[in-house]
Amino acid sequence: MAHIKQLDEQTIKQIAAGEVIERPASVVKELVENAIDAGASRIDVAVKQGGIAEIRVQDNGSGIPQNECLLAFQNHATSKLSRIDDLNNLLSMGFRGEALASIAAVSHVTLISKPSTQENAYMVELQGSEVLKQQVCAANNGTQFIVRNLFYNVPARYKFLKKDNSEIQAITRIITEEALAAANIAFTLSNNDKIILQTPGNNDRLSVIQSLFGTEVADKLLPIESDPNFTLTCSGYIGRADLTRKSRRMEYFFVNNRSFASNIILKAVEAAVQDYLMTRTFPVAFLFLDLPANLVDVNVHPRKLEVRFWNDNEVYRAVYHQVKNSFSAYLQAQATNYPPNNSPVINTEELKSEQIELPAFKAIEPFTASIPNEQDNSSNPATLDTPINPSEFIVPAVNNLMRTTELKENVTIYNDISAVASNIDAGETRSTTGSAAKGTIERLFNAGLERVDGKADELHKLPSAEYLGQLFLTYLLFACDNALYFVDQHAMHERTIYEKLCNAAKRQEKIISKTQDLLVPYSFTLCPADSLIISENLAELSEQGYKLQQTADGSFVLAAIPADQIGNNLKQLVEDLLQALDVKQGGFAAELSKTQRLLATKACRSAIMAHDFVERTRVPALLDAWLKCLNPFQCPHGRPVCLKLERNELEKACKRKV
Ligand code: ADP
Ligand code: MG
Repeated sequence: MAHIKQLDEQTIKQIAAGEVIERPASVVKELVENAIDAGASRIDVAVKQGGIAEIRVQDNGSGIPQNECLLAFQNHATSKLSRIDDLNNLLSMGFRGEALASIAAVSHVTLISKPSTQENAYMVELQGSEVLKQQVCAANNGTQFIVRNLFYNVPARYKFLKKDNSEIQAITRIITEEALAAANIAFTLSNNDKIILQTPGNNDRLSVIQSLFGTEVADKLLPIESDPNFTLTCSGYIGRADLTRKSRRMEYFFVNNRSFASNIILKAVEAAVQDYLMTRTFPVAFLFLDLPANLVDVNVHPRKLEVRFWNDNEVYRAVYHQVKNSFSAYLQAQATNYPPNNSPVINTEELKSEQIELPAFKAIEPFTASIPNEQDNSSNPATLDTPINPSEFIVPAVNNLMRTTELKENVTIYNDISAVASNIDAGETRSTTGSAAKGTIERLFNAGLERVDGKADELHKLPSAEYLGQLFLTYLLFACDNALYFVDQHAMHERTIYEKLCNAAKRQEKIISKTQDLLVPYSFTLCPADSLIISENLAELSEQGYKLQQTADGSFVLAAIPADQIGNNLKQLVEDLLQALDVKQGGFAAELSKTQRLLATKACRSAIMAHDFVERTRVPALLDAWLKCLNPFQCPHGRPVCLKLERNELEKACKRKV
């Protein structure tokens, strides 16, 4: 082995610089944070080639006195900290006094600065920590840094710089975070002289968000109300259920106004809203946490990207409750708006008499108008070989009551049609039925079907909308205001039952399930891991109406189940229960979500299924109960309950409009 020797100063500096300055975005972050610390109200960042060629950061802050301009580049030179105790109550962004020294070690840097009390500006220029030039010059109050030739003397680092556009992406992310945190500062960012972003600096977070992400995002945010009962208070915004992303890209977290990544916060926020979002989608969140500076250690990462909290559980609890309460308060407010004052009260009796007066198929006339051979339709039930009248995709609401005898024939056809629908669902264009049917359904599915997540006022239209009937024996179809609404009957009913069960559980009421003994008890064996899950939860299962016993040989006997689940496939039922009870399946608050998942399984199994015939007279009551839900938008598993097809979209799809 070679002999031990002390590294030379330049090598030490370069190694240290490597920890702080990883890429152009790190330079930008350090310079911008210095400008924030200097009390600037305006910060302009201009880069060339994603910062690889040049980075300029100009501020109108306090400036650096002439005699400190070189000192600022010395290692551990800082005006923000003088004793280790200061770290506990630190409010500034920087404090290590390493950034400028590190930048100077690996680039060519120019500093021009003028405090307002100084007559002239002063300029210093360094390369590889060597001073090249220093002189008095003319400039406005404030500070400008120009960094060129980054990593010119660290070829290994230089080689690993990404393409210009991935560097500019990283820089944009940094400025976005800084601008969100400092709503009182007006930021601009440009690359190769093209403006990329601009914020107003008017101290209003929502307008910063709007300037960065547009009104589509800003309009769908709910404010988070901070609760002073927690040591850590949360404020900011969380996206409504109709504003989600496929990744965590739009989750922004700030601790005492610094942007940080934190798994605890991330998990707490996602757990707080998971009931309302589709599975595998992520919330949009701008979350600002405030807590006493001595309860958080920001000094655990050289680039200050991570923090350590005094108590992770407390942080989780505080974030979870404040986010969840704000979200629920909003949903609650929407739910109490229902029924809207101007909508007529639904009277089932009236609906019934109205049905009898209506001619058969009235509701679906618009679909049948262009179909030839109309005279044959009533006498000749469609078969798979004959072109199918699209009217028969729908069990017409009126028809259900008036021509019950024909229903069975219809049902056969619908089952076949549902096969077409699932082909289309699976992305196949092949169809086993007539081309007329295929064309119509495809057009229907390709046209702009839109989820109505988060829009309670849309759903509240349904009770007074025209009920057209059941589509594919799976969707309740409504027409209103130039739009067609598809309500998934199973998802709707499942959500309704689920919330009822959850509310009862919350009130600690025993959910009295009518349990029914199985005629033939169902015996089954499970693998050891699954056996354990079931045997650990026998009491809870029994409370929910599932009477299960484990026999001496380790197998199980299911003797009774909730009465409304009779007729379910028992093997599938056991599978579902297992999935609900397996805490490893996901969910963050394990204990809570286990119960919730069990309730969801129960709701799922008790609800109206796809392919169940729903009598028209049941519809108003079903709607009414569903619309009272806190979250009527998704079933407990996160699938959408209601989709909407605007007439406009249909007309575009049919090329009536472009
Ligand atoms: P730190 O920010 O950790 O103190 P830096 O190396 O980033 O360390 O900066 C060193 C010092 O230079 C700061 O403490 C500050 O006094 C001064 N400084 C840097 N940038 C600016 C600026 N834009 N305006 C005023 N002073 C600055
Ligand atoms: Mg600094």
